Amino acid sequence: MLIIQCCKHKTVKNCIFCQIVKGKIPANFVYQDKDLVAFQDINPIAPVHILIIPRKHIVGIQTIQDKDQRILGKMLLVAKKLAEQNKLKGYKLVINCGKLGGQRVLHLHFHLVGGWKDLKKYHQWIEERFREGGVL
Ligand code: AMP
Ligand code: ZN
Repeated sequence: MLIIQCCKHKTVKNCIFCQIVKGKIPANFVYQDKDLVAFQDINPIAPVHILIIPRKHIVGIQTIQDKDQRILGKMLLVAKKLAEQNKLKGYKLVINCGKLGGQRVLHLHFHLVGGWKDLKKYHQWIEERFREGGVL
């Protein structure tokens, strides 16, 4: 898919998601507009696992400001649209906030995860993942 590059947004040199936004690291994009991109998670935990991120480098919910309100609202609307496109009847929107919240990539992202036939499978996966010391 064509990557629409957008130079007006502030990006950070050694941030992996800024590199994805700039097209310097490949990703499987499923949505793009002037403010946001969404792409498939490289290590999916569910049949559908999409990351929705702003083009602009925002560290996380822990650093958002009033001026980010429009973009944050848009991220939710895009999440809903992508859930509909993927015909998800139910799903989770997960936002890890800060290192102690399990956030490994310090560029704001929503995880849209779903597509399990049975929610029990998700719970089993979560248990295993945490037992192994992992995070979502
Ligand atoms: P978090 O732990 O909430 O910061 O989530 C970061 C997510 O980014 C993880 O689910 C990773 O699998 C995902 N991720 C890291 N690098 C890439 C990449 N190059 N392309 C797609 N997803 C990635
Ligand atoms: Zn970034």
